[in-house]
Parts: sequence; structure tokens; C-alpha cells
Amino acid sequence: MDSPTTPSQSSERKKSCVNCGAALTYEPGTDLITCDYCGHNETIEQDQNAFDELELNKYLKEVGAQSHSMEISMLHCKNCGANQHIEENYKSLHCVYCTMPLIIEDQYHEQWIVPGAVVPFKLDQKKAHQIFKNWVDGLWWAPNNLQRATISPEFTKGLYVPYWTFDAQLRSPYRGERGDYYYVTRTTGSGKNKRTVRERRTSWKPASGEVNGFVDDTLVKASKQRGNQIPKQISNWNLKELKSFNTKYLAGYVTEKYTIPLKDGHLEATQEAEQIARNWIRRDIGGDTQRIHAMEMHLSEETFKHILLPVYISSYNYDGKKYNFFVNGQSGKIHGKRPYSFWKIFLAILAGILILAVIVFLFNKYQ
Ligand SMILES: [Zn+2]
Ligand SMILES: [Zn+2]
Repeated sequence: MDSPTTPSQSSERKKSCVNCGAALTYEPGTDLITCDYCGHNETIEQDQNAFDELELNKYLKEVGAQSHSMEISMLHCKNCGANQHIEENYKSLHCVYCTMPLIIEDQYHEQWIVPGAVVPFKLDQKKAHQIFKNWVDGLWWAPNNLQRATISPEFTKGLYVPYWTFDAQLRSPYRGERGDYYYVTRTTGSGKNKRTVRERRTSWKPASGEVNGFVDDTLVKASKQRGNQIPKQISNWNLKELKSFNTKYLAGYVTEKYTIPLKDGHLEATQEAEQIARNWIRRDIGGDTQRIHAMEMHLSEETFKHILLPVYISSYNYDGKKYNFFVNGQSGKIHGKRPYSFWKIFLAILAGILILAVIVFLFNKYQ
């Protein structure tokens, strides 16, 4: 089983260069941590054993379980509520979500369940910023001067966002009905109004049985703040690229601590499992349509992982307002809030009305 990590073990081991003493940072897309000053690099060793799934029941029983957890330094944003762990070599201390300044003296220590795995950053900060700029240039209906918005690259920060993943063996006995469609032709009306119509009917037959299967990697968000959620549009990571956890992957990045407890995450995963069970049952019943009258859901061999996934977050100011945008640190997919130009939209609508008016006019004229 997993070897318990003693709470005294800290992630605060300095990752500094053996040549010049400067801070080392994780190099996106590689297995290296490098020195920005002299170019020295070190390989991040892969730990094959650390990839184990953890037994769920054990952790749900022992709230704040000491095993497989360690102490990390945390900064809490008073403005939006995000808990973030900032590696010591991060220069500007601002909340990744709301850019509120954070004070290093407010740092406190907290236990967390050590992540089982991490998808390391694949894009570097420069690339993420470039994606953002291209996105701004390609926006429809955006004000012309948006390109001149205050976009400072140093506020584009790499953040490891916490997620829970759950695995379980699912078994669901059920009772329901299978519906098959058939068609009847009917005549309606009489005399001149007599017509035949084809109508769809359903024949129902009782059905019952049991579905079985493995529910793999149900991904559940473990972070919650006021506003500023990671948008669904970019929340798609290739989990095949998960690496066993090593704090070196965090060097130079901000890591958020889960604010949704394991118990709540598990509840959400269970609801998702029920949805999966319903889909399996419908497929098992077959036919054109199905009714489920009763079902049970048994989950066994439940395991979970705490994983970290990479996102770049930034905000830009336009016309005195703040807009956030998010870039998936693995795929480069972007999504963000954006301003609309009132005049561009207004003129487009006006043009649309004019074209319509011309069409109507021509249509009437040549009728
Ligand atoms: Zn160096
Ligand atoms: Zn904040």
C-alpha cells in the first residue's frame, strides 16, 4: 500500500541551482527543472510507485487523514477566497484569480492530501500570452482599440488547479420497460376532407436485469472561489499525460489547494456514476425508448486521486473594467470574458435591417 508521508515533510525544499544558487523553475513540456541564469538543468526523476490510487473509504473515515498528506505553505486571498501555494521563487505576489496583492507574511502552513499525479505544463508563459494576443485579434464585435488594452504578460500566471478523480466498480440491478415504435395509418374526416395519416405508437414490454462495469477517472473539480471559475470550455485535459507527482513540477508556478473537500467531491462523482448507470441501463433495455421504474446502484472498490492540472490565468483591463481569460496549459485552448463594441453591433443590425428592406422591396416590385 501507499507509504505514509510524515507531516514534517515539507515541499519547501529549496530548488536552487548548484552552479549559481538562482532559483530553478520547471521547464514546460519537458522533465527538467532549469536555471534561468546559467542554463543548468536537472531531470525530474519518475517515481513509478507514487501513482497508486488511494482507497476511498479509508480517507472518508479519517477526516484530515495524516497518511499520505503533507504540510505546505498557503496564502489565502481575502478578496476571492482562493487558497494558493506559491513556490518561493515567484516574484510578484498577486492572487492568480483576482490579481489582489498577497502578503508573504500572511503565509501559514496547512496539511493537504499529497497529489497522486500531475499533468505538467506543456506551454510556457510566453506561448500562453501569444495565444491570448491572437485571441484578442480574432474577436468579432470587439471594440477597435481593444488591442491597446492593458495586458501585462507578468500577470499571465501558470496555475495548477486541483481536481479529484474517482474510480469504482459499478453494479446496478434495475426494473423497467422497453418501448418499440410501430406505425398505424388512420383515415380522418369525410367526403372532400378525407385524409389518411400515419401515426407513431409505442408498444411497452417489461424489462429487468443488471448492468456491471468499471467507472474510470470521473473528474471532479476541487476548487471553489467567489466568481472566477475555470470555464468548462477549456476544462479538457488528456489524462494519459499524467505524471507521478513531484514538487519540482510546481517550481515557478502557483498551486491551488482544494477547497472542495474529498467528501463533497465524492458526492458529485456518485451523482455522475448514477447518470452513467442510467445510460448503461437504457442501452441494456434496448428498443426505441425506455422507462426505468426502479434501480439500485452499488459502488465497490472505490479509489480516488488528487491530481493537479495546468491552466494559465490572466486578466486585462479595458475601459476601466477587468476581464479574465484562461488558457489550458496542456492544449492551449483559450476562453475568456470579453468586451463587445456597441457601435459595431448596432451598425451590423442596422445593415441587416437595410438588406432585408431592400429584399422585401425587390420582391414586392417583381411579384
Ligand atoms: Zn544557475
Ligand atoms: Zn483572489
